[in-house]
Amino acid sequence: MATLARVKVLNPAQPNKSTAIFGGEASGILNWNDLAYPHFYTLRQRIRSLFWTANEVDMTQDVKQFPNLSKAEQEAFLKIIGLLATLDGPQTVVAMKIADFATDPSVKSIMATIADQESEHNHSYAYVLSSVTTLDKQMASFEMGRTDEVLMKRNERIVAIYNEFAENPTVETVLKAMVYTTLLEGLFFYSGFAFFYNLARHQKMVGTSTMISYINRDELQHGKAISDIFRAALAENPECNTEALTEWIYDQFRHSVEQEIIWSRYVLGEIDGIDLEEMAGYVKYRANKMLRMLGLSEIYPEFTDNPMKWIRAYVDNFDDTKTDFFEQTSRQYVKTSDLNGFDDL
Ligand code: ZN
Ligand code: ZN
Repeated sequence: MATLARVKVLNPAQPNKSTAIFGGEASGILNWNDLAYPHFYTLRQRIRSLFWTANEVDMTQDVKQFPNLSKAEQEAFLKIIGLLATLDGPQTVVAMKIADFATDPSVKSIMATIADQESEHNHSYAYVLSSVTTLDKQMASFEMGRTDEVLMKRNERIVAIYNEFAENPTVETVLKAMVYTTLLEGLFFYSGFAFFYNLARHQKMVGTSTMISYINRDELQHGKAISDIFRAALAENPECNTEALTEWIYDQFRHSVEQEIIWSRYVLGEIDGIDLEEMAGYVKYRANKMLRMLGLSEIYPEFTDNPMKWIRAYVDNFDDTKTDFFEQTSRQYVKTSDLNGFDDL
């Protein structure tokens, strides 16, 4: 398959409205009222509307509570932040790489917005850890992605698929990288998120969980945007839309669900309030959801509904019709940032 070229910044000989998402022609001038896919405008607006920064979240109570968590809770806390930092951090780079090879300037713009939010997610993990623990434990948490056997095993395929796209960018490798991006945004983080929501429902570490709920809300919108772009790009490249690719996607989902369940048992086995069977069902329910977004069928028919009922109060939905737990208790969310002295700029 032909290698995708890095797209020029400006190419005035070509039209403003891109002729393809990848490998097309486009001038590089972006007019939101003249898009190949007008609904991409809404994708960007939804992502932009979620703006937040980590420093705005008050960690005062969390700082006091962390030493009083059980040893198992403290260990899980550090491991899960380690996982999130390992997998969520590189999302900044993946979004920028997809942007590099996208011809459609609206896709570049959406990816730039996603990349910005991912960089804040990465920052927020360091912010949480620096609030609650010592420097050596913070360092150890960020080393996990290169040292923890279970985590490394779990991440094997994603590392391979992302690096394959980086080294050999083609329509096929970018489509596969986008499948893994939807897996990250919609599935891989969710047993970790559930751990923090479980703490919050026991009135523990509510600052951290508030931040996690903001990240979660972002990820849901990213997953939606990337799966929409994936579907459009696949439709433009019917030669890639094969039985083999479909089977490959189902296989990645099955494998990812298995890995997520193994991981959840590894980190959450000792945690009060989390039922591991329910968690496995929740992971399968998330897999069904993401498959539907990619235009495929559910593979876990017994999990079309969320079996982890309590978590609904904590997780926002795409349509924003639900009020989430943290918004209801907005007194927990205190702006502490005094850094915005515009007079000093
Ligand atoms: Zn993220
Ligand atoms: Zn994301």
